[in-house]
Amino acid sequence: MPEIFHTAPVKVTSASAAVVLHCSDPRYQPHFQDFLRNALQLERYALIAVPGGAQFLTPADNQPQFSWVGWQWVKFVHDVARAERVVLMAHDDCRWYLDVCSGLDPAQLRTRIAKDLRGVRAGLLERFPQLQVELYFARLDGDLAVIVPV
Ligand SMILES: [Zn+2]
Repeated sequence: MPEIFHTAPVKVTSASAAVVLHCSDPRYQPHFQDFLRNALQLERYALIAVPGGAQFLTPADNQPQFSWVGWQWVKFVHDVARAERVVLMAHDDCRWYLDVCSGLDPAQLRTRIAKDLRGVRAGLLERFPQLQVELYFARLDGDLAVIVPV
């Protein structure tokens, strides 16, 4: 491990930043970062990465404290970033979803995740009507990921 590490320079700016919310699954992190930087051209963004991504903002089936805390975090990050744009990303074979939605087959799980993303977008637009909210879904294909809008 180096004693001191210097990052590449990043221009300091006071411009608003996007807020990105996605699952913390390590299989997807490099793909999400690649997509955000190279497909969406996001040089910097405020990130909330938790198991299941936006699922924690859905009206909680049995754990309302997750939803309450989640919306507090989103409001805080939104205000700090002065966000005009929010990107929600979900992915196939999400272990969090498999755990909280046991019994659903893969197709049902994809339907549930898409429904949750749309529900969270509606909740965001209720609270922050000026936002641009984008939804994406990723699936692994060998060493790469395929990411499509929802
Ligand atoms: Zn996941």
